[in-house]
Amino acid sequence: MSIKIKENKCVGCNKCVEVCPGSLIYKNEQNKAFIKYEKDCWGCTACLKECKFSAIEYYLGVDIGGNGAHLYVEENEDTLNWHIVCKNENETVITTNRKESNKY
Ligand code: SF4
Ligand code: SF4
Repeated sequence: MSIKIKENKCVGCNKCVEVCPGSLIYKNEQNKAFIKYEKDCWGCTACLKECKFSAIEYYLGVDIGGNGAHLYVEENEDTLNWHIVCKNENETVITTNRKESNKY
């Protein structure tokens, strides 16, 4: 499991660095976040939920039935929209209330 951080969307707010329980995310000289130890990511999704700029994508590997799809989160006031994008670009959106998001 791993995440990918899109440099062009990252504004360097540091939230993902602060919330990653494994201290896996760092910032480069351009103030952009990056994951240093990809293989150590266990997919807790904390960084996705905290990034208000949808800069983080989470890859859903074959081992969990994702077959290369990816997931990103978009914040909308009290809700989080979880976008699941398949390899063929088909997209499914699941909306959760922020307070309940730790259930998923
Ligand atoms: S939370 Fe998002 S915008 Fe903020 S540093 Fe991390 S990736 Fe960049
Ligand atoms: S998904 Fe969890 S473990 Fe992986 S980088 Fe994000 S916060 Fe860290």
